[in-house]
Amino acid sequence: MFVVRDMLLGMGTVAFDLKDRVQALLPSMLEMRRDFHRHPELAFQERRTSAKLADHLEKIGLEVTRNIAETGLMARLKGGKPGKTVMVRADIDALPITETTGAAYASVAPGVMHACGHDGHATIAAHVATLFSQMRDQIAGEVRFVFQPAEEIVQGAKPMVEAGVLEGVDRVVGLHLFNQLPVGTVGVRPGPSMAAADAFTLTLHGKGGHAASPHLAVDTVVIASHIIVALQTLVSRETDPVGTSVVTIATVTAGDGAHNIIPEVAELKGTLRTFDPTLREHLMRRIYNLASGIAAAMGASAEISWRPGSPAVVNDAPLTERFRGIARELVGDKLIETPPVMGGDDMAEFLNRVPGVYFWVGSADASTGRDKPHHHPGFDFDDERTLPLATELLARTALDFLK
Ligand SMILES: [Zn+2]
Ligand SMILES: [Zn+2]
Repeated sequence: MFVVRDMLLGMGTVAFDLKDRVQALLPSMLEMRRDFHRHPELAFQERRTSAKLADHLEKIGLEVTRNIAETGLMARLKGGKPGKTVMVRADIDALPITETTGAAYASVAPGVMHACGHDGHATIAAHVATLFSQMRDQIAGEVRFVFQPAEEIVQGAKPMVEAGVLEGVDRVVGLHLFNQLPVGTVGVRPGPSMAAADAFTLTLHGKGGHAASPHLAVDTVVIASHIIVALQTLVSRETDPVGTSVVTIATVTAGDGAHNIIPEVAELKGTLRTFDPTLREHLMRRIYNLASGIAAAMGASAEISWRPGSPAVVNDAPLTERFRGIARELVGDKLIETPPVMGGDDMAEFLNRVPGVYFWVGSADASTGRDKPHHHPGFDFDDERTLPLATELLARTALDFLK
């Protein structure tokens, strides 16, 4: 049992049993999470989800602003005393995947599924708000709940920032459920913890022709092949082995299915993952220079278009240390230091501007088959045990960060 005393500023004698209160919210949490799961919505289409959250937050007395960045929302809980402002962030979008879990609460939206756990994130943050609304007088400062759309395409956080949700915010906190860890485990690391993820499209223009007369054409297929191989040397030969980066070509398109035509155009789509901003800029430049140099040397031309993703997720070291203390009290040695992951998350847009922490909450339960990886059509997590633990941990962290 955790009796929160010292967290409540100026109310040293007030005992507030967070764990019992969280447990009392479990039926409400399960209902909300499974409702969101049944009705998933893709990036920037989260209208139902957003409206449900806004209704919930208004009902418990928060000051809600709807339709920020199209389908996002912000809810402010002003405590009984002045103090810092802590932002709690949750993402709310689903993925274009056809669900195969067979769960009673499986998606009823064809081809759309909550396969990343954002239904859980939204539920957890909404219930931290419920908890805080019950203890508002004891909160010194403001807790601002930000529900952002479109994390899966890393386009939702930036317009929320531009709309001003970070104004006056001193610290940021958020979590991601993690099926690579069993339920009961919590993971975090100080510093860079998730990569910057940028997408690019390289288009090669050669000269089409008859496959039997290559000397009269400029073959974009052969040129593309040279470029694909050469791009691999950017990481293996040009990047300090201690620095971490990935260059992947994921889609190669040329020709229309013929056996006897040299295609005039070839297109390569890929992703760049980095942690270090200098390395990121260097590799962005080098990918184009290398591709266009090879293309030019072989008589073709190349152009590149970037869809810049979010920067790397970087946790503030002192706040991470404070978070560790809180997590250790809750889960003991089940708190681990997770390695950096090459996946991206636009939580980075907030953490890049305001210090904070983004942590992992283990959510897998192999005994019930709810241990598939994120973005898998069979993805599900142990909501009965994960939601209360995550809610308590997020609540305790937000309270601590108000100090
Ligand atoms: Zn995802
Ligand atoms: Zn996710």
